Amino acid sequence: MLVFKHNQSQIVEREVYLYKNNFMAISQALLVRCDSNCELCGTNKAEIEFVVTPKDGDDVSEMVALCNTCFSNLELELSDYWRCLESSIWSPYESVQALSYRVLYKFKDLNWVGDVLNNIDLDEDTINWALHSYQKPEVHMDAFGNVLTNGDTVVLTQNLNVKGTNFTSPKGTIVKKIKLVGDNVEQIEGKINDQVIVILTKFVKKG
Ligand SMILES: [Zn+2]
Repeated sequence: MLVFKHNQSQIVEREVYLYKNNFMAISQALLVRCDSNCELCGTNKAEIEFVVTPKDGDDVSEMVALCNTCFSNLELELSDYWRCLESSIWSPYESVQALSYRVLYKFKDLNWVGDVLNNIDLDEDTINWALHSYQKPEVHMDAFGNVLTNGDTVVLTQNLNVKGTNFTSPKGTIVKKIKLVGDNVEQIEGKINDQVIVILTKFVKKG
């Protein structure tokens, strides 16, 4: 299942990481397919064999031939540059469709991008491939599916016996400035009665 509730900078960092770790010199098979032209902008010379994650690049069908400019711009927020994707998204190759969709999706709030994404009729598999880089496998969420972040305020949704102490925190207790437990998405830390305690995320509602 895809979870889209996360901030934009995290997406970009993740994408930059993925992109940087998934390119190599261009192969003959790909050069033949793209006729030596970048498959995104369609004008510059293809220089880079870019594997569209999460595929591992076993086959040319999992790659896109890119020029150096398109490759460098993948990690930048240059929505105007990517007008070229209005054409490339109609490519007959699924990998080119997926990468075009993936890059456009970063700018989905712009009107022209929204129009492009609404008008293209891609396979669901292709869209899932495109959006894979936006997946966030595990995040802290409250009982209602709202994503929690450090510093949030939460409210207890039921009475909780606090382990190791002699008090019960009643339902409705407000816990300010929570801290996410790094290795467990089901736990947060917060201060109740001046004590830092671990609280299960399923018993809180984001305030
Ligand atoms: Zn290009």
